[in-house]
Amino acid sequence: MVAVLAAVMWAGCTTVPETGRTQFNLVSGKWERSMGRQAFNRIKAKQSFSENKEAAAMVQRVGRRIAAVAPLEGAQWEFALFNNSEANAFCLPGGKVGVYTGILRITQNEAGLATVLAHEVAHAAAHHSAERVSRMIAIQGAGIALVNSFGNLSGSSRTMLYAAWGIGTTVGSELPHSRRQELEADEIGLLYMARAGYDPEEAIRFWERFAAYNKSKGKNMPWFLRTHPLDVQRIERLKALLPYAKAEFRPHTPSLPPAVNEVVFIHPEDGRRITVPWKERLTLYGARRTAQIFRVGAEATVQRGGDDLPGAPTLRLRPGDVVRWK
Ligand SMILES: [Zn+2]
Repeated sequence: MVAVLAAVMWAGCTTVPETGRTQFNLVSGKWERSMGRQAFNRIKAKQSFSENKEAAAMVQRVGRRIAAVAPLEGAQWEFALFNNSEANAFCLPGGKVGVYTGILRITQNEAGLATVLAHEVAHAAAHHSAERVSRMIAIQGAGIALVNSFGNLSGSSRTMLYAAWGIGTTVGSELPHSRRQELEADEIGLLYMARAGYDPEEAIRFWERFAAYNKSKGKNMPWFLRTHPLDVQRIERLKALLPYAKAEFRPHTPSLPPAVNEVVFIHPEDGRRITVPWKERLTLYGARRTAQIFRVGAEATVQRGGDDLPGAPTLRLRPGDVVRWK
């Protein structure tokens, strides 16, 4: 029993990234990931994926950029776009993120979507669900914590634990985080989106559109909206944080396509282009033999970038080199 307890609980306190807040957290990353994975699999089995390929690709693109700047150890990032008219998004512990097509009307552009995804990713990076579960364990007693396999739980304990994880029986809603956690996710998310190369001012515009939507929905507003802090308060706070976020802005540089992994010979007799796959330690001598060109390498010129190098047989070739004879 003590061993199980030790496996589930590893430290009482952890520090939230960016804000530096000390939080009470009894849950290991491993347990978090396992909960998130299980719940996401259930959601994926119930919900239908969006067939809008462009929108789905956008969710992947933006999600990857945000995840790349979020420090979550052992993260198992996964982003899915579900076909659901509700204006909603959620993040499960460990990095499983779901977006409903209904929120795309409000995000409107990639920076708007980045605002939502960065907010959700921030919940995961800050272990907000684990914090809530830890509080529940502390309140309910350790009995529930002593079980790290759901098979061993009674039905009611299981329901309670699922509810604490925010996973509930009606899965796929934004987790019922506390207002403090919401504002914290806003703050961290604003930094993440800026670091991922999205203009943090877009966050203000998104939340303003969201507030307008919220208002138009009145009492019928979805759960996600009701559990979020008052829009006015959130927008004011984000405005105050903008200078910090702007200082964190890093322009996004798409990674270059991989260099062509071959060298090219221009045949001295007939001018044919012959390509030879590049490999480490490939010399002009070796490549010439592969290309079956029987001219002395020393008479060749190797074009590399803008330079012409003398064709020494021992010259190590690089990908993209072009070898020609006069
Ligand atoms: Zn939230």
